[in-house]
Amino acid sequence: MNKYCYSFQEGNGKDKALLGGKGANLCEMTQIGLNVPPGFVITTATCRQYLENSDLPEGLMSEVKQHISELEEQTGKRFGGQTDPLLVSVRSGSAISMPGMMDTILNLGLNKQTLQGLIEQTDDPRFAYDAYRRFIQLFGKVVLNIDDEKFDVHFEKVKRQAGINADIGLSADHLQEISELFLQVVQDETGHPFPEDVYEQLELSIKAVFDSWMGKRAIDYRREFNITPDMANGTAVNIVTMVFGNMGDDCATGVGFTRNPGTGENEMYGEYLVNAQGEDVVAGIRTPKPVQEMAHEMPKMYEQLVELRNKLESHYKEVQDYEYTIERNILYCLQTRNAKMNATAMVKTSVDMVEEGLITKEQALLRINPELLEQLLHPQLAPDHNQPPLATGLPASPGAASGKCVFDADTAVRMGGAGEQVILIREETKPEDIHGFFAAQGVLTSRGGKTSHAAVVARGMGKPCVAGAEDIKIDVKRRLAIIGDTHIREGDIITIDGSNGNIYLGAIPTIEPTFSNDLNTLLGWADEIAEIEVYANADTPEGARLAASYGAAGIGLCRTERMFNAEDRLPLVVDMILANTLEARESALAKLFPIQRDDFKQLFVAMSPNPVTVRLLDPPMHEFLPSEHQLLEEIDALKQYALIIKGQKVSLEMLGQHIELPTPFNELTEELVNEAISKKELMLQKVRDLYEVNPMLGHRGVRLGMSYPEIYRMQIRSILDAMAQCYKERIPVQPQIMVPQIITSQELKKVKEIVDQVKQEIEQHYRIELDFKFGTMIETVRACTRAGDLAQYCEFFSFGTNDLTQATFSFSREDAENKFLPLYNESGILQDNPFEILDVKGVGQLMKMAVEAGHQTQPNIHIGICGEQGGHPESIRFCHHIKLDYVSCSAPRIPVARLAAAHAKLLEDEYHPV
Ligand code: PEP
Ligand code: MG
Repeated sequence: MNKYCYSFQEGNGKDKALLGGKGANLCEMTQIGLNVPPGFVITTATCRQYLENSDLPEGLMSEVKQHISELEEQTGKRFGGQTDPLLVSVRSGSAISMPGMMDTILNLGLNKQTLQGLIEQTDDPRFAYDAYRRFIQLFGKVVLNIDDEKFDVHFEKVKRQAGINADIGLSADHLQEISELFLQVVQDETGHPFPEDVYEQLELSIKAVFDSWMGKRAIDYRREFNITPDMANGTAVNIVTMVFGNMGDDCATGVGFTRNPGTGENEMYGEYLVNAQGEDVVAGIRTPKPVQEMAHEMPKMYEQLVELRNKLESHYKEVQDYEYTIERNILYCLQTRNAKMNATAMVKTSVDMVEEGLITKEQALLRINPELLEQLLHPQLAPDHNQPPLATGLPASPGAASGKCVFDADTAVRMGGAGEQVILIREETKPEDIHGFFAAQGVLTSRGGKTSHAAVVARGMGKPCVAGAEDIKIDVKRRLAIIGDTHIREGDIITIDGSNGNIYLGAIPTIEPTFSNDLNTLLGWADEIAEIEVYANADTPEGARLAASYGAAGIGLCRTERMFNAEDRLPLVVDMILANTLEARESALAKLFPIQRDDFKQLFVAMSPNPVTVRLLDPPMHEFLPSEHQLLEEIDALKQYALIIKGQKVSLEMLGQHIELPTPFNELTEELVNEAISKKELMLQKVRDLYEVNPMLGHRGVRLGMSYPEIYRMQIRSILDAMAQCYKERIPVQPQIMVPQIITSQELKKVKEIVDQVKQEIEQHYRIELDFKFGTMIETVRACTRAGDLAQYCEFFSFGTNDLTQATFSFSREDAENKFLPLYNESGILQDNPFEILDVKGVGQLMKMAVEAGHQTQPNIHIGICGEQGGHPESIRFCHHIKLDYVSCSAPRIPVARLAAAHAKLLEDEYHPV
């Protein structure tokens, strides 16, 4: 027989897939002796069954009734009872935490009769009506789909008429009036009275929570965070006895983290509100107090809270994000889950917990999602900016950002989509603002604390957030934020610093952050474990130094064309391309030689003693010339100019005047202009000669080296001459020469012959022996199929998975990403963008074949990857699996890749690609 429900005493705390994260934790907390209000969980399997059949499975409600009876027994209260009624909360919770994405209903079980029971039991009509109006609104919103606003207008009206600012000032009579108005809202909006039968309330709520799994918010969230069905499939429903933080001044409600989630500091962290209900803290409706104040206000409770926090950490061996309620001086733990923290805090807590003996180094590495580390390279405000802040809020998520102010999420998406940097400003954010977070550089709120929705979501995304900046008055209708005398309108630029809570007018320059000692320690552990090394793609000495400072073990790809494109070299490169004879080309190349050699030397020195892989020229030649269209326009303009000069001369002659023409006419003679025209026309001719329908599949890569060996010869000479000079200066360097676009070993053999000749010449010239590696990119399908053959002529392979992906899919990498790939990803035809995440099933299989063939010919061949996918953790797992020696990625991905390399090793037994 199917079992749909588990009580907190019986559910397996490890089975998050079945019970959801929250439910599993409630079971586990109960079973380790924490004071959790009694309750039970309806499983995620039940949710799936419900969604499939659009109906609750038979037998579920009788099981639910059975469990409710158990709760009645444990609490001595009765569900629907006229005296001492049992009230419950109904909460969603899937295997993966999705903060605020699905629905929760509180105080369920209230109706006109139980309300009277609650009043009698508590002797507190104010409290009872407060609970009642909250329940009607939440139930109305979540179950009956009635907009919050419909209720809020009545609430605000009663407050206004009573001349009351804070909700806490409302009396029992006001709340009774509000409750009655709310009941009328339900009648008006649905055409039915509010359900009085408590089991009907419960059944409808269970359905609503299940339905919320397929709500737009939840679907968007899962898509954004790549939550697949094997990670979380359906939501559980947690039915928990209500405890109240709003029964008086010996009651409170709060949320906390077992360590500071912004810095990782090992300290009590969180916020609470006396005489309030949980939602008040999370929704930012009242600004809560820091938990430290509880030490004075409720010292006994504070002591118990410290104890709770310690127990949670020592049990879960992970930083926890927990919620609690104090009801008449009894502390209840309502929820705990692994805390979402920013990268700084994750790194610090990892290192600290190892040092405290709480976890092992392996656990410390595995608890951090490698992608998170990219946050650490987020910009900070330049320390010397000296600009006074306009206002200050709470530092809710670190990092700094500037952008144009927008006052709602849709505008953030619109402007963000148009390429603008925006800061989303709201009084408080709600889950429905989530798309605005994705589009914004940062978030600023005027209400709510460090655990408000805005803070938690921004931290999870690694975006800066300043929360609760109460000096800002926000007028969404007029698209205006007012701070003292300053009016900030939509489109005005501000800067926020989520590390200290400051808000500035205008854009303030930012600086790149540096590595912390903790990060160095952690990545040092990662390097000890990883088998695959991490190299960098870098083309300049600055890029190389940066990569080295991030811990790159070498340069896996230096694209030499970037050097050709520099302003001072381009004219030489153009001369070389325009040359019609070998001599003319050699003469242009001779001028390029010392420049390239010096570039390489600097690069080798910057990376000394580690390897630097230099790729010989790859792009088609036309890329160094202007476009045909541009040349035609320039020639036309020059011809007009020539006519003007001529006209000036003729008119002056006709007037018989022999005056000097003003600058620039006296410098730009007709001859000079005509010379420029001829050069442009020559260039135009060359552009037309070089024209190819599909240049990326045309005359590029090694094919250039075959047609113009003198170009490759010059580059090889530059590399080896630079190397020889370093040797002479006793600088240990390891150049590697790499050939692009190879399809056959014959090409490689020919380039190798040039390499060998040049090597001999340089060795003779400098009287030294050069020790370097020669290798090939594997970026064509044919190279993969002929890898065994290629391995005879080289010492390393580097997979160019940008081109290899293009070749495997027959997609143009230039066009696919902004034409049809988004559609393919959204509609699920392709799971990922293969230019970002290695396509293991297709491209990966070609790689695997090439690795095996390469190793067969030459067991010691060194193999890596230098396409963009090389910095992505999933791709790194595959690369480790097929036994590559290194991955090479852009500098900011290096910390991510180092950690991912350790994960790949630690999790290798669990990795089973197709
Ligand atoms: C590749 O093709 O993966 C590669 C690294 O080369 P490029 O992107 O320069 O073509
Ligand atoms: Mg390529």
